Amino acid sequence: MSARLLDGQALAVRLQQEITPQVAQFTARYGRPPGLAIVLVGQNPASEVYVRNKLKAGSGVGFRADLERLPEAASLGDVLALVERLNRSEAHDGILVQAPLPKGLGGDAAARVFDAIAPEKDVDGFTPTNVGLMVQGRPALVACTPSGIIELLVREGIQIAGRRACVVGRSDIVGKPMALLLLQRDATVTVCHSKTPDLPGVCREADILVAAVGRAGLMTRSFVKPGATVIDVGMNRVTDAAVARALFPAGHPRLARFQERGSLLVGDVHPDVADVAGALTPVPGGVGPLTVTMLMMNTLRAARARAEGART
Ligand code: NDP
Repeated sequence: MSARLLDGQALAVRLQQEITPQVAQFTARYGRPPGLAIVLVGQNPASEVYVRNKLKAGSGVGFRADLERLPEAASLGDVLALVERLNRSEAHDGILVQAPLPKGLGGDAAARVFDAIAPEKDVDGFTPTNVGLMVQGRPALVACTPSGIIELLVREGIQIAGRRACVVGRSDIVGKPMALLLLQRDATVTVCHSKTPDLPGVCREADILVAAVGRAGLMTRSFVKPGATVIDVGMNRVTDAAVARALFPAGHPRLARFQERGSLLVGDVHPDVADVAGALTPVPGGVGPLTVTMLMMNTLRAARARAEGART
C-alpha cells in the first residue's frame, strides 16, 4: 500500500485564497485592514524563519502585519510592557509572541507573557481564557496547529466521528488541544506521552494517529494500523548522518539533499510508514503551512469580533 499524501501546502494556498476577499471586505467596511503584531525577542534562527513566514502570509492576505522586535537582553518587564501596548493598540487585532523566549527571561516567562495577552487578541489561542472556553466547547480562539489539522481532516473527507484517535504528545500547544478537538468531533481519543507503556501497541489501535513528539522518525511501521490516517506534526532538523541514513535508503533524493546541505527537516513519522498508512501528511509541506494559515483565520476572526463589538 502507498499512503495518499495529504497536501497541507496546497490546502493552505486554497484557504488563503478564500481568506483574501474576506480581508478586502473587512478593510472596505471598517476603513482599516485587520492588524497582526508579532513579537520576536532575541535572535533564534528558527524563530526568524517562522516569523518571516507568518508576516509574509499576513501581508499576502491583506493584513497589516507588524514585527515588534526586542533585543536578547530585554527584560521580562520590557516584554510585558510591549504586550500591554499592543493590547491597547487600535490597529492590532491579533498579538503573537514567538516562542521560545530567551532563557535569560526565566523559566516562567512564557506563561507570564502569554497570560498578559488580551484574550480577544490571543490569535495563538494560548491564554487560559481561550483554553478554558475551548475545553468547554464554547467559541474561542483555538491553537493554530491542532485547528489546522482538523481543517485538513475535514476538507480531505476523513471521518473523525466514531473513529479511534491517538495523539502522541501532551503539550499545551499541540497535544492537549488536538485531543480535545478530536473529542469534540466525537472521536474516541487516547493521549500518549513519554511514560506510556507499549507505545506502538497503543498507537496501532488508532484510525487517526497524530504524532506531536519532536523525535525524528520515532513512529515506525509497527506503530501504524494498516490504512490509518497519520498526521505528522514533528519538525526535526537532522544533522547526524547516521540518523539521516536510518530514515532514507541509499540513493533516496532526500538523503542526497542531506549530503549536499548537511541537514534535513523531517517529521516524527518514519518514511516507511507510507507503505502501511492509508493517508499521511508529509514533512515539510503538511501541517506546518496550515498552522500559518490558521493564524490568518484567527486574526480575521479576532478583527471581526473587535470591529463588531466596537459598532455595538
Ligand atoms: P513538546 O516538547 O512540548 O512536547 C513533546 C511531547 O512528546 C511531550 O508530551 C512528551 O511527553 C512527548 N514525548 C517525548 N518523547 C516521547 C517518546 N519517546 N514517546 C512518547 N512521547 C514522547 O513539543 P511540542 O508539542 O511543542 O512539539 C512537538 C513537535 O511538533 C516538535 O517537533 C515541534 O517542532 C513540532 N511542532 C510543529 C508545528 C507545526 O506547525 N508543524 C507547530 C508546533 C510544534 P512528556 O509530556 O511525558 O514529556
